[in-house]
Amino acid sequence: MRSPILGYLDTVIEETAHISAGDVAGYIPELAAADPDRVAIALCTVNGTVYSSGDVDHRFSIQSMSKPFAYALAIEDHGLGAVLDNVGVEPSGEAFNELSLDPETGKPRNPMINAGAIATHALLKSDEESSVERMLKLFSQLTGRQIDIEEAVAASELGAGDRNLGLAHLLRAAGALAQEPGPAVEGYIRQCAASVTVRDLALMAATLANAGVQPETGEQVLRRQTTRQVLSVMASCGMYDAAGDWLSTVGIPAKSGVAGGIIGVLPGQIGVVVFSPRLDPHGNSARGIEMMKRLSEDLGLHLMDTG
Ligand code: GLN
Repeated sequence: MRSPILGYLDTVIEETAHISAGDVAGYIPELAAADPDRVAIALCTVNGTVYSSGDVDHRFSIQSMSKPFAYALAIEDHGLGAVLDNVGVEPSGEAFNELSLDPETGKPRNPMINAGAIATHALLKSDEESSVERMLKLFSQLTGRQIDIEEAVAASELGAGDRNLGLAHLLRAAGALAQEPGPAVEGYIRQCAASVTVRDLALMAATLANAGVQPETGEQVLRRQTTRQVLSVMASCGMYDAAGDWLSTVGIPAKSGVAGGIIGVLPGQIGVVVFSPRLDPHGNSARGIEMMKRLSEDLGLHLMDTG
């Protein structure tokens, strides 16, 4: 028998179909060409059961949803203290690509905005494998399948990467970038171009929900303390300058990407993923937010809800 949960997910898609607000990301030509009407949802429990609906096999670039995982890898490489010496944990209240550093510390304010994510990527150890290869390996462990780069998206963003390059130069001048600006930005952009489905992302989110243990393989991919840190920063900074609105309405740690995905994590319970390419002015999926609000409300996911 078909699970009633699948019927429920179909309903969430149908009942948000009228939401056509927002625009696909315009500043990366390859993303500007995306079909704006694609839509998908996937849930994965900490037992590894996945429920999905919509364009479940559609592949799209992970974009900024890669940032929590790069942050996790940097913490695993260097320990939390050393990472905190380089990147802060305060919400910036600014756009994701703002050209600014914390004036008091000279560091990026957090690892979820581009400045912090470029600095974080540059911290990744790359003795035997490149930082990008290491990120792809991590994504593959988290999803249980080989994850590759969508080369057309990477090339397209590299060709339009002036703002991120500007940020990297600013970081370098402030002594907050461990690599030269060019390679740091190229690595970061390739990390963002990893090609995933909502199912892949649901497993990645569920691993964060499950204290770093991938629920299908049982592998401890990340340490428990690492996932606690990552989820805390997702809760406070993952939705950029809409983080407060998100935390009060949806109420779970989350991260968005400009290709239209959003991952949410209810610790100890479930990973939730939505996809719809049109973005609101903060760069978060407009219909995705409405779908997440519905899921949070209907399934009782809000962390601050005492029942
Ligand atoms: N690669 C994108 C950028 O740097 C990621 C931004 C995002 O998903 N918010 O602009």
